[in-house]
Amino acid sequence: MELYSIDISSFKADGGAMFGVVPKGIWSKFFKADERNLISLMLRSLVIKTDDRVILIDVGIGDKQHEDYLQFLHIEEHEGLVSGLATHGIKPEEVTDVILTHLHFDHCGGGITYNWNREPIAVFPEATYWTTERQWDNAVNPNPREADSYLPENLLPMQDLGLLDFIERPGSFCEGVDIRFVNGHTPGQIIPIIRYGSKTLVFGADLIPTHGHIPVKYNMAYDLEVLRTMKEKQEFLERIVENNYVLFFQHDMLYECATIVKTEKGFRMGTPMTLREFTS
Ligand SMILES: [Zn+2]
Repeated sequence: MELYSIDISSFKADGGAMFGVVPKGIWSKFFKADERNLISLMLRSLVIKTDDRVILIDVGIGDKQHEDYLQFLHIEEHEGLVSGLATHGIKPEEVTDVILTHLHFDHCGGGITYNWNREPIAVFPEATYWTTERQWDNAVNPNPREADSYLPENLLPMQDLGLLDFIERPGSFCEGVDIRFVNGHTPGQIIPIIRYGSKTLVFGADLIPTHGHIPVKYNMAYDLEVLRTMKEKQEFLERIVENNYVLFFQHDMLYECATIVKTEKGFRMGTPMTLREFTS
């Protein structure tokens, strides 16, 4: 198995919204806000290459929205998705599976683009795009709270182009990749767990998007059911500490991965590392 991370692009979000009830005096120790109280967040994908599969976990925002929208999000290109894959010698048509942890715009938009005629096409034409039925139903018939995060142009083409399939139950996705479901941030979010030799990597998705979200009480205001998130996080962190797993941060500008330690004050970051350090 080979593992690569791709820093697709960064965007900015309100620091207060990213940390819910946590006072700015505390979260600003993790993340420096600009004059508009915005903090930068990475859009980081994980590539899992096995003997017979190339799996991509989450695909960033994509390029379909109007320039004003992308500017509003302060998108800054880093490696790019397709160009990032190319640096590892992977062509878009070689991707066999796209696992979408959930369907908020910053996780799934990069899977669909427009052709010259502004018709939606698959960025990864040979891949199956996986999510859960629970998340799909929630996304295509959104509640008012999440509606702005679900963009129809990201979602409907997946179904129309026959790309979409559902992971029906937690457990083994394929050799080396396990799936768990969590529901506090949004119903039916997927947490992939990757076994790499004797090590294990947990893809934090929006359950633990940055190292600043490791403490159980530090959660995003975007979470639909915060008490549920706290319970789910507690369970994951216990298991991570117990088994010496490493956590992968999808939205963290500073750290790709880290170990977790349990202190008197609760869970904290142990040793931060790059994915390359994890795999070496
Ligand atoms: Zn989300």
